Amino acid sequence: MDALITGGAGFIGSHLAEYLLQQGHGVTVLDDLSTGCYDNVAHLAGNPRFRFEQGSILDTGAVERAFTGTCSGETGQVGTPTPTPTDGHVNHVDTVFHLAAAVGVELAVSHPMEGIMVHIMGTKLVMEAAQRYGCRVMVASSSEIYGKNTSDNISEDDDRVLGSPLKSRWSYSEGKAIEETMAYTYWREMGLRTVIVRLFNMVGPRQHGRYGMVLPRFVHQAITGQPLTVYGDGHQSRCFCYIDDAIPVLADLVQHSDAYGKAFNLGSREETTIEALAQKVIALAGSKSTIHYIPYGEAYKDGFEDMPRRVPDITKVRQLTGFVPRTTLDEIIRMLVSLERGVGESWFPPGRNETLYSATLET
Ligand code: UDP
Repeated sequence: MDALITGGAGFIGSHLAEYLLQQGHGVTVLDDLSTGCYDNVAHLAGNPRFRFEQGSILDTGAVERAFTGTCSGETGQVGTPTPTPTDGHVNHVDTVFHLAAAVGVELAVSHPMEGIMVHIMGTKLVMEAAQRYGCRVMVASSSEIYGKNTSDNISEDDDRVLGSPLKSRWSYSEGKAIEETMAYTYWREMGLRTVIVRLFNMVGPRQHGRYGMVLPRFVHQAITGQPLTVYGDGHQSRCFCYIDDAIPVLADLVQHSDAYGKAFNLGSREETTIEALAQKVIALAGSKSTIHYIPYGEAYKDGFEDMPRRVPDITKVRQLTGFVPRTTLDEIIRMLVSLERGVGESWFPPGRNETLYSATLET
């Protein structure tokens, strides 16, 4: 593959970039470094198969440079810019992982317009370029799609249950839904090979609590002796999936002809309430922190609606790729605790490749 990862300097994108390079593929990262962070991919810059373009998916020039590998490499000596061929032939990427997004519920609530522009206008530009160059495309969608559907086994064809469009919380779900529809329509009407992956609460090294994500926040709070901030009564539940379990599936799906024009849930089925998660983090970190319950209206805004439950049916992705989430929540928490303490070498899940983490520890 000669792959382009939009949003490749983010938490998920940087793990995907690392994985694809390890598998021998070429990787171009397009990222505006708004929520992504160059440090996440800095260790890849020496690889001749890695390129970096700093720019937004809303910028047609940056998108074109990223697709044609003529990256400007504006952030220092980043990657290897490929000179534009003089014979008129344009080299271009053949596979796109479209991950660029306004991440997190907090951002959707505080800056809904930003998210809407990126999800809708940005995705339009990326899909147009993908069509121009005949690329395969994986669109990263989200469990947010399902909204308040509380099924204990949400499957891909289940209904979306959303609140009012005037509640900005739902703008993320709306934006992702339009991305999905675009991807599906490009497949159905134009034959572009697109696949949609709905990610359920991915967690792992390099994820920041800065944009609201609960697990890195709890781990940081527990290690630094601060109270763990549980929103609402903490009875809402989630299933946390270890990033390293999920990444190979993204690469598999985009190359699988049976996946095109379809959507796949991807996540773990180990359900925990947020209150139980806080208790677990405190116990596994050996922390003296307490739990502080914060009303939603204080944490976000008045009228905020949370998703009470999210448990994916993963039959479809398992049948096509053999995906099984291997890492337990206890293992994930232990690893994040040791990384947060800066002693990442001391604890890794059994049989894992420690080199994957070395870059994280250095940055
Ligand atoms: N949450 C919390 N305390 C925090 C951050 C988040 O209790 O400091 C809650 C949040 O309200 C939600 C759950 O944890 O119910 C998961 O939040 P996250 O933003 O990680 O993911 P998502 O809402 O997308 O599932």
